[in-house]
Amino acid sequence: MDEETHHPGEQAVGHVACARCGTTAESGTPPPTWLCAMEDGRRLYFCDDCARLHIRAIESRLDSVWW
Ligand SMILES: [Zn+2]
Repeated sequence: MDEETHHPGEQAVGHVACARCGTTAESGTPPPTWLCAMEDGRRLYFCDDCARLHIRAIESRLDSVWW
């Protein structure tokens, strides 16, 4: 009767929220304009507005990995 079913490796289905401003995607799936980033094994989504602001930080972080 418990609905606490965990699926390791699968992303939580139900609601997608921007990791920065908390905006939720109505459809339950992130719009193609949203940015997806992996952090500590978790999948984070950023709305298009936040992605635009955040893209530099994400890109620079990725760059540092490549150094
Ligand atoms: Zn946002």
